[in-house]
Amino acid sequence: MKILLFPDEKLRLKSKKVERINYGIIRFAESLKDFLYSNKGCVGIAAPQVGHFEKIIIVDVTGHKKTTECHNLIIMLNPEIIESSGESINREGCLSVPDYTGNVERNYYVKIKYINLNGDEKILTTTGFEAVVLQHEIDHLDGILFIDRITNLKRDLFKRKVY
Ligand SMILES: [Zn+2]
Repeated sequence: MKILLFPDEKLRLKSKKVERINYGIIRFAESLKDFLYSNKGCVGIAAPQVGHFEKIIIVDVTGHKKTTECHNLIIMLNPEIIESSGESINREGCLSVPDYTGNVERNYYVKIKYINLNGDEKILTTTGFEAVVLQHEIDHLDGILFIDRITNLKRDLFKRKVY
């Protein structure tokens, strides 16, 4: 798998819903998970970041220093935020935007409806860092990057010194 890097225009594409869970989707999700775990310190990835434009995200905040609430490995197809509240400002980074980090304001709490790899409809509610990472990954499915959510670039966007 190869990561698309900003300013690649393909990162701006909107992903399509997964209509049918077949062997190809399961295998793709499996490789995406391996790819996520092969990037040390990385807590989430969305399918369009590797040029696959279907609504699939994977998040795992296990062991991260900012983690409070944690559901370990989360694989979501067609995720949709159906409830959100509160405010949380966090320093975010992204595999697709390797040169920068930024302070992004998001919701503290989210309730997300999604389909799992067995095709079951599920609901997940979470807070804090895990909620923030999920919002970041769901944004990718709509072609939105964290840098788009920074209103004051001079104050809140930082050139990365350590990778
Ligand atoms: Zn990202």
